[in-house]
Amino acid sequence: MDKPHIALIGMGLIGSSIGHALKRGDLAAQITGYARSSQTRQKAQNIGFVDHVADTLQEAVTGADIVFLNVPVGMIADIVKDMAASLKQGAIITDVGSVKKSVMDAVNAHLPEHAVFVPAHPIAGTELSGPEAGFAELFDNRWCILTPDADTDKQAVATISDLWQAMGSDVEIMDADHHDLVLAITSHVPHLIAFNIVGTAADLEAVTQSEVIKYSAGGFRDFTRIAASDPVMWRDVFMNNGEAVLEMLARFSEDLTSLQRAIRWKDGEALEKLFSHTRDIRRSIVEAGQDTNDANFGRGESPHKSGHKSD
Ligand code: NAP
Repeated sequence: MDKPHIALIGMGLIGSSIGHALKRGDLAAQITGYARSSQTRQKAQNIGFVDHVADTLQEAVTGADIVFLNVPVGMIADIVKDMAASLKQGAIITDVGSVKKSVMDAVNAHLPEHAVFVPAHPIAGTELSGPEAGFAELFDNRWCILTPDADTDKQAVATISDLWQAMGSDVEIMDADHHDLVLAITSHVPHLIAFNIVGTAADLEAVTQSEVIKYSAGGFRDFTRIAASDPVMWRDVFMNNGEAVLEMLARFSEDLTSLQRAIRWKDGEALEKLFSHTRDIRRSIVEAGQDTNDANFGRGESPHKSGHKSD
């Protein structure tokens, strides 16, 4: 394909970062953007990660070779339904949603015959949202997982794979159910734990709110960073990946119970064994280039680039 005309539907953290990455690599003949609110559309225009901002969804996708859906996963079905008639012959639709199976079902229910869907999920993000949060380097050296099914057009998969690589990512192909299970433990459950621990601390009566904030550097503040992630996006993740999350939570609860037992019976050996193992896992992540070993990581650099938390 020659340089494609690309439409970005949703111009928050991920949509704007895609726009910046496309511009950095000069990868598109034209980038058209659309978001629900006129404020976001205006900001996108001002920042300039798109060439043109459309006033309607239908206008945005008209003539586009590739349409990126960068919206919370619960919005995808309605968007595909509303844009279906405006898609050009052979258009490739792709997404960035954090859950894959339910998104594929939602898109396939409304996708017209003359378009192809290539599901995708860049494993890169920050806790910030909105069009100002994006930056071109977000996807550099991060994985992007594609979850096509057996009859997804191979050429379309290759086109999307090439585009993600040109935006800096490494691409992996995976079955959608497996993706949802892997992401449940690497992302969805950790976020749930962060939401929960911050909520618990806020509800404690014996410890004041000001103490929680004052002494947060003891570990709590790292949970608060994750727990500050976008509420709508995360609501939709749990509404759409409940089964895998509940399965992983059951495992988590069992392991937590054995930690409780180790503390109750003063089994220091069991505790130290686990903590040594978890430290090794951290080392492997740093060795794999998925984080740096800087102390206090995520602080002391530009705030919008703080910590590439995977979502
Ligand atoms: P975000 O910053 O909150 O941006 C969401 C965008 O979607 C906004 O531009 C919003 O427009 C737009 N939108 C919402 N509903 C819409 C609708 N009905 N029609 C048109 N536009 C609509 O969210 P994000 O972090 O970029 O996340 C977007 C997607 O990326 C989600 O599916 C998420 O699962 C996935 N993802 C997120 C991360 C992460 O770490 N954040 C990482 C990987 C993948 P308005 O501003 O006008 O409301």
